[in-house]
Amino acid sequence: MEQSQTMTRPIDWKNVITISGFHVMAVVAVTYMITVRFSVETLILGAVWFTLCGLSITAGYHRLFTHRAYKASRPLEFLYLLFGAASLQNSALTWATDHRVHHAHTDHDIDPYSTVKGFWWAHIGWIMRKSPPHRDPKITTDLAANPLVRLQDRYYYPLAIAVGSILPLGLGALWGDALGALLVAGFLRTVLQWHATFCINSLAHTVGSRHFGEDSTARDFWPIALITFGEGFHNFHHTFQSDYRNGVKWYHYDPTKWFVRLLSFVGVTWDLKRAPAPAIARVLEQESGSRTSTLSDQGT
Ligand SMILES: [Zn+2]
Ligand SMILES: [Zn+2]
Repeated sequence: MEQSQTMTRPIDWKNVITISGFHVMAVVAVTYMITVRFSVETLILGAVWFTLCGLSITAGYHRLFTHRAYKASRPLEFLYLLFGAASLQNSALTWATDHRVHHAHTDHDIDPYSTVKGFWWAHIGWIMRKSPPHRDPKITTDLAANPLVRLQDRYYYPLAIAVGSILPLGLGALWGDALGALLVAGFLRTVLQWHATFCINSLAHTVGSRHFGEDSTARDFWPIALITFGEGFHNFHHTFQSDYRNGVKWYHYDPTKWFVRLLSFVGVTWDLKRAPAPAIARVLEQESGSRTSTLSDQGT
C-alpha cells in the first residue's frame, strides 16, 4: 500500500521532457560525429567534461557534501559545485537530501530509489515522479550553513546551463566545432553520466557480493566502479558510509579515493576518514560466520 502511494505520485513532466530530450540529443550527437564531423578535440573535451562532472558527483556531492568523509578547501568545493551543476543531477543540497534519506531508510518506502520497488524505478523511474513531500530540510542543516552550497542551490539552473552547455560550446569554437562540442560534451556526456550514476542505485543494489553485510540490498560489483570513478563497492559503502574510500583494498579500482588522497598531499583535502581496520575485519568475520552457519543450517 505504502509503495503504491509513492509510485503513483504525479508525473514530473519537466523531468520527463528534459530526460527524453537529452536522450534524443545524445543520439543526434553520435549521428553528427559519424555523418557530419568527427573531431578528436571534441571527443577529448567530452572525456574531460565526463571526468570533471563525474568526480564532482562522486568526490564532491557524494563523499564530501553528503557523507562528510573528508574536508576540502573552498576553491575545490566551488569547482565541485560548478561541475556538479553541469551534471544535471539536482543541486548538491537536494542530491544530499535524497542520498541521506537513501542511507537512513535503504529499501524502505521512504528510500527515494529503493530497488524493492523494481530495477527500473531505482534506475530512473523515481526521477519521473514528483518529489515526495516528506523531505525534511533538517537532514541537511549542516550543508545549508555553507554559503557556496546555498548559492549553488539558488542559481542551479543558470550554472548548469553555463558550465554544461555554454562553456563547451565556446571551447568547441576554438577548433571550429562549437555545435559538435555542445552535442558531445553537453548532451551525450550528460546522458552517459546519468546512466553511470543511475547504475549505482539500480545495478549496485541488485548484482554483486555482500561481504560487508546483508542488512540491505547494497552490493559490491566492481564493473560499476569502472564507469563511476570507483562507486561500485556499494556494499562496503553502505556499511562504512563515512569512509572516504568505497574500494577499501589498495587494488580496488576507486579513482575517487585516489583523487581525494592525492589532493591531501598538497593540502587541498584533509581529515580523510577511514573505518578502523579491526572494525572492517570484524564485520567481514561476522558476515562469513553467519553465511557458514546459514549454509550448515540448510545442510541439516
Ligand atoms: Zn545505495
Ligand atoms: Zn552514499
